[in-house]
Formats: sequence, C-alpha cells, structure tokens
Amino acid sequence: MKAAVLTAPGTLSIEERPTPEPKENEVLVKVEACGICTLEQRLFSGRMSLPLPLVPGHEASGRIEAIGAKVVEELVPGQRVALDLVERCGECYYCRIGKSNLCLNRHKDAARMLGGFSEYIVVRPNQIFSVPDSVSYEAASFAEPLACCIHSLKRLKVAMTEDLLIVGAGTMGLLHLLAARSMGLRVTVSEPNPARRQMAAALGADFVIDPTVTDIAGFGREITDGIGFSSCVVTSPAPSALEPAILAMAKAARINIYTAYEDVMHIPLDLNTIHRNELLITGTEGRVQEDFFQAVRLLSFGKIDVNPLISARTSFSRLEEGFRTALSGDAYRVLLMHSLP
Ligand SMILES: [Zn+2]
Ligand SMILES: [Zn+2]
Repeated sequence: MKAAVLTAPGTLSIEERPTPEPKENEVLVKVEACGICTLEQRLFSGRMSLPLPLVPGHEASGRIEAIGAKVVEELVPGQRVALDLVERCGECYYCRIGKSNLCLNRHKDAARMLGGFSEYIVVRPNQIFSVPDSVSYEAASFAEPLACCIHSLKRLKVAMTEDLLIVGAGTMGLLHLLAARSMGLRVTVSEPNPARRQMAAALGADFVIDPTVTDIAGFGREITDGIGFSSCVVTSPAPSALEPAILAMAKAARINIYTAYEDVMHIPLDLNTIHRNELLITGTEGRVQEDFFQAVRLLSFGKIDVNPLISARTSFSRLEEGFRTALSGDAYRVLLMHSLP
C-alpha cells in the first residue's frame, strides 16, 4: 500500500509499505479521504515538531476492510466510517476525569498516531464511527474538525437564541458557524477578508462584519438592544482581533480562545473588566468521544453541509502541491483523496 511519510519538514516521500494486518481486537480500514489540517500544515512547515518519520493525517474517512475475530461491536466490511486518529490512553488522570482531549499520553507512541495519509490503517473499534452512505467520504472527513467546534461551543455553554460572535472565517470559524446554527444561535462573523465574509454569508451567518471598518462592540450592542454578545469564539490568531472582541461582550459572557498562537500572547485587558462583568475566558483543545459522535450524527442527519469548505482535492502523487495550496492562505480544506490518480 502507499503511504505518505513526512521524513523532514517540507519533505513527503510516497513509500510502498506492507498493508497492516489487524490483530484480533482491531479493524483494518481502507482510507478514502483525509483533510490537510493545521496540524499537518504545521508539521510540514516545521512550525510544530513530532518525532519523524511519521505518516500524518488525522481527519480521515474510509470503509471497513477486515475485522479482527474478537471485535465485539457488530461491524461489516464495506461499512463507511469516520476515523478518530488521535488516540487516548483511557488510563491517565485526564482520561479518567472525562477530559481525554487533554490525555497525557496522546503523543507518546508515535507509531500509532495520525496515519490518515496511508491507504490502509489499523484502528481499535472505538476509533471507528459509522456513517451512512448518504454522507460522502469527503464530508465524513470533516467529522474530526466539526467535533472540535462542538467541543468549543459546549465549553462556552451556549444557549439557544443567544448571540455568538465568531472572530475569523477560515475553515474552523465557518465550521463553528455551521455547528452554532444547528444549535439555534444567532451568529455574527467578523472577518477582514471579503471573500471569506462572502462565504460566511453564504453559509448562513446572521450578520457578517468587516472589523476594519465596523466597530464590533458598537455593532454588537446595536443588534442586542445594548447588551452585547453572549459568547465569542476566537478562531483567528491575529493579535488585533482579540481586544475588540472582548470589549463587545455582554456581562456574564464567555470567550473561547480556540486558535493557537505561534508567539506569546497576553490578554489585552484590564482585569477589572473581567471582574466587574463576570467574564469567563477559556480555551479549548481537541474534542472527546461524545463530541465526535455528535459531529458524525450532525453530518449523518444532513443538518450540516460541509461541501462548500472543500477547496481542492489532491492525490498521493500531488500531495506536496496540495500542502502548498493548503498553506497558501486562500484555501479552506484541501483533501487527499486516496483513489485519485
Ligand atoms: Zn484537524
Ligand atoms: Zn490519557
């Protein structure tokens, strides 16, 4: 089978490897689609380092090829599945308190990490989430990032009909938008790039604003009878995006720093603003199994259409080109389609 191996930052080699054999408690999956997410982009560009060589890819979907003899779940070959490829140990402190997204042992066994950029992969049954045939492999590969958005919105304790502000309309901002709409929120998206604003409007944002010309706090008060936004997700690492968003919050609002920052960033805020207004500022990292399960159901029920977020499809032979497209800043998701020549 083919596997795309990251041997050094910027270098992917397409290797021929033996197709793995599932052990008796494992399942072999033929991978069909895998997104090039920020994690893969950071590994490729060298801004993040993990022990190399490794096969990247954690936003994967495919179909069941073979099932180990001792797998208890009733699975059938050919079943279409979304894959959770960030393994959790289930044994550490965080796994035991229900926060497996913060598992201490996630990155320990590099051999079992990621791996969606190979034609076949062996997984444990709990990493498999069945999807109906009505969900394409492409759409199923969005289960993982969508799960991260669901986790983020739950952390914000959003309630139906509240006003949510999303800062940044990249892939993750827009996936937050789709998830938030399905939860009955009214959503304002703040984004300086006109093409991305247009996409946010097309995907159903209630309001779309350009923060370079519109005062976010003033706009928020205008649409909420002077109250302000109830919650906010920051998906853009632009330092200038943060302060106006925080100042646009209502009292008792919640703010999630969803984005990661490459440099040290401090909260640009007088702490009395937090104190007097009972603001909650949090972050989120990844997702737990329940979030993944719910993301798969949202896709399966046809409640969310992620297709507009696919910017390009690439193949093993053009994977480096696909990475460059993903890194160009103009693209939403670029997918490796394993069957493309
Ligand atoms: Zn991802
Ligand atoms: Zn753990």
